[in-house]
This record gives sequence, structure tokens and C-alpha cells, in this order.
Amino acid sequence: RMRRWQVECRPDIDTFTPGLLALYESLKPSEEHKSNQQQLVDSLSKSVSKEWPNAQLHLYGSCANSFGTSHSDVDVCLEMETGSESIAEVLLKLADVLRTDNFDNVEAIISARVPIVRMSDPGSGFSCDICINNLFAVANTKLLKDYAQIDQRLLQLAFLVKHWAKLRGVNETYRGTLSSYAYVLMCINFLQLREPKILPCLQAMEQTYIMNVDGTECAYFDEVHQLQDFGAENKESIAELLWAFFHYWAFHHDYRRDVISVRTGNTISKQEKNWTTRVGNDRHLMCIEDPFETAHDLGRVVDRQTIRILREEFERAAAKLQNDDDPCVTLFEPY
Ligand code: ATP
Ligand code: MG
Repeated sequence: RMRRWQVECRPDIDTFTPGLLALYESLKPSEEHKSNQQQLVDSLSKSVSKEWPNAQLHLYGSCANSFGTSHSDVDVCLEMETGSESIAEVLLKLADVLRTDNFDNVEAIISARVPIVRMSDPGSGFSCDICINNLFAVANTKLLKDYAQIDQRLLQLAFLVKHWAKLRGVNETYRGTLSSYAYVLMCINFLQLREPKILPCLQAMEQTYIMNVDGTECAYFDEVHQLQDFGAENKESIAELLWAFFHYWAFHHDYRRDVISVRTGNTISKQEKNWTTRVGNDRHLMCIEDPFETAHDLGRVVDRQTIRILREEFERAAAKLQNDDDPCVTLFEPY
């Protein structure tokens, strides 16, 4: 008997590609959505400049990395001199300024790994996270955006995976599952590992972009217009790739040994990173290396219980695509 991980994709898998592409199109943000986001950024920028005239406002996360859906929030990073004030003090002051300017639900979240002010825009209802001087997020936003321009299958795959993760309840870091950012890195690494490759490893190529963040060099090849045909030899359809993505995470990935690494375009060993045992709250059960903050494991939030939930969800998703008559519907059924 064939073992589960040797199963081949069903022969009629391609019949689901049009349905999946239609779903992808429906998830892309509308022009109206984008202009509402821009209005929020403009009014935020006005508020901030009153108190901090030299602050620079950067968009990061999915409103700037091209992986944003019409449900995504707006992530903003303020770059500024903080002088003798701590980040926490600046955030508390910022929260006061925003309340005065009538933003809704303003809340300073100081204890998070990356402290932020969260608020919502009374006009559009958008939720917005603001951090201070977190330039790693600005750098990884550009990296993701550049990868997205190489082969359109990355955006298609990542939108479908993010949509699936939200509906299945496995996109909640505070509950021990994975961030959207982690899912996008999983998609990039997966496409770097296809045969023939669909994506290159930009950090292993000539460095045409270099940004120094807190003493760490974030460098890679960013002239992606030169790579438009990179994935052309690989003819896999989005239905095949989506199935193979879930199948990889359900049956192929070696959770005990491997770390996925967009930085190297490969998997590397936990041994090599010293991620073999739990340190504090970092359990390293499912390991996803951040491309620039390489000591940071994006899977650190995953615990014994949630890794089981995640793996069951990957298996379920692979099975739906493999067996169902209408996987475009059943795959995304809310849990
Ligand atoms: P969504 O559409 O779900 O909002 P997103 O890409 O904006 O997706 P968020 O979880 O809101 O995802 O994260 C915003 C950005 O913050 C990411 O794109 C990334 O740049 C950065 N980020 C998020 N989580 C982490 C993390 N654990 N480590 C480092 N950077 C992170
Ligand atoms: Mg976001």
C-alpha cells in the first residue's frame, strides 16, 4: 500500500484552478479600500507631525508588502529621534495625542515583543497598529514585496493560505498559532524548494539593497524586474501548488529536525541554530527563521497542543483538496 506521504496529487486537480483564482481575485483589496487606507495614513500623519515634526511615517505589513486582503489592518512604523524618552513613554504620549484627535479605541500595548499603539479609524473602521523605530519590519516588508513581483503564483498561494488560516482559526499568535507573516514566509520557502524552482533566494544573490538596522545588515538582490522569467520552467498550477503546500506541511516537513529558512532558500537544521530545546517561552517545535532577525523563530509561539492542531489542519486541507468534489468550498469552511 502507498504510504500517505507518497500519495500523488489527483489527476484532475487542475480543474480547481479557475475556482481558486476567482477566489484569489475576490480577496484582493478594492480601489476604495486602498483610498480609505490612504486617508487614514494622511490623518495619522497630520496628528503625529504636530507633536513630532521630524518623524517619518513608514507603512509596513500587508498594506505595503502586497499581501494585504480587504480584511487586513494598517501597520505603521514611526521613525524618530526619541532622545531621553523610552519607547514606552513615546507610545503613551502618542496614545494621548490620538485620543485628542478623536481616533477610536486607542490603546498602548507596551508589554508586547514589539510595543505598539493600537487604534481604529472612526471613518473607515480600519484597525491600525503603530510602532516606533521597528525598522526590521520595514525591511522585511520590502523583501516580501520584492518576492511577490517575481512570480504571480506567490501572491495567489499566499492569499489562499492566509484566507484558509483565518477561517480555520490558525492565524492567532496570542493563541499559539502562526502570524500572517509566518505563513507568507512558509509560502516563499516552499516555492524556493520546488523543482524546478519558482522563486530564487534573493539573500544569496548579489547585494543591490543594503539597509543597516540596529547593527544588523539587511541585504539582498532587489532588482527583481530582472527575474520576471525565473519560475517560467515550472508549469505547476495554483491548485497543484496549494495541495503540495499543505501536503508538505502535513507529511513531508521534518518537525523534529528542520528549520525553514527563506534566507538560505532551503531548510537548515535545528542543531545548527541551537533550537533543539525550549528556552524560556521559545519551544522551537515548529521552526521558521526570520530572514533578517535570524535569532528570531516565528514558530516560537507554537506549543505542544497547537502544533497538533496545526498539523491536523494541514492534513485536513490536503485531504479536502485530494478527495472532495468542491474543495474550493470545503477547504475554507469555518471551523
Ligand atoms: P494581515 O493581512 O493579516 O494583517 P500582515 O502581513 O500585516 O498580515 P501582521 O501579523 O499584521 O501581518 O504583521 C505585520 C508585519 O509585522 C509583518 O508583515 C512583519 O513585517 C511584521 N511582523 C509580524 N509579526 C512578526 C514577528 N513575529 N516577527 C517579526 N516581524 C513580524
Ligand atoms: Mg497587518
